[in-house]
Amino acid sequence: MRIVLLGPPGAGKGTQARRLSESTGMKHLSTGDMLRGEVTSGTKLGLLAKGFMDRGDLVPDSHIIAMIQQHIDDPAGVLLDGFPRTVVQARALDTALEKSGTPVDQILHMSVEVDELVRRLSGRALCGDCQTPYNLESDPPSKTGICDRCGGPVAVRNDDKPEAVANRMKVYQELTAPVLDYYRSHGNVAEIVATGSPDEVFEKLSQAIRSGKSGVMAN
Ligand code: AMP
Repeated sequence: MRIVLLGPPGAGKGTQARRLSESTGMKHLSTGDMLRGEVTSGTKLGLLAKGFMDRGDLVPDSHIIAMIQQHIDDPAGVLLDGFPRTVVQARALDTALEKSGTPVDQILHMSVEVDELVRRLSGRALCGDCQTPYNLESDPPSKTGICDRCGGPVAVRNDDKPEAVANRMKVYQELTAPVLDYYRSHGNVAEIVATGSPDEVFEKLSQAIRSGKSGVMAN
């Protein structure tokens, strides 16, 4: 199975992709996590990507496509989180998967109202080691700044600061919303209203994957 999770920043793609990966055994591929790993390791790609990421801009397509290419053939199946983010990336994914004869099976579009997205992002923090997400207001780690899961450092991402968040929303509208139109024209998009508790959203996503269908899963 090849499943793409699409949705604006703050929709909960990372949280849900991690849970779905645990429940289905599929590999969770997050281009954001991969890039943060490159930044932490100080690689050439990480040095190049950091400026784009801190501003909330997209890292150029050619680097992203080269980075993800070797991972998309995982025999366990893949859950793509944060990729594709442009129509160029979506086309490159289709071309790569056509070669291996395993096209994208399903697109899960997670939609959340803009006010709710801004509210969620304003308190968001992340473990720098294992990427576990927290919300400093509603779901903080039990010891300030320390991850409950791995003991790593928990901090607000540079791109979750207000100016970068505003830019990420704009970039999403301009460059990523057209990816949704691209997939809708192929007819395999399941619409998930991603408000409610993380458990409720997880249930809707799991149900959509089990049924394998496109359409609206609002309730
Ligand atoms: P995320 O963790 O998915 O929100 O990604 C964090 C940042 O990494 C984004 O704001 C971009 O700067 C960069 N990034 C992640 N995925 C992509 C992608 N598919 N294309 C371009 N840039 C990306």
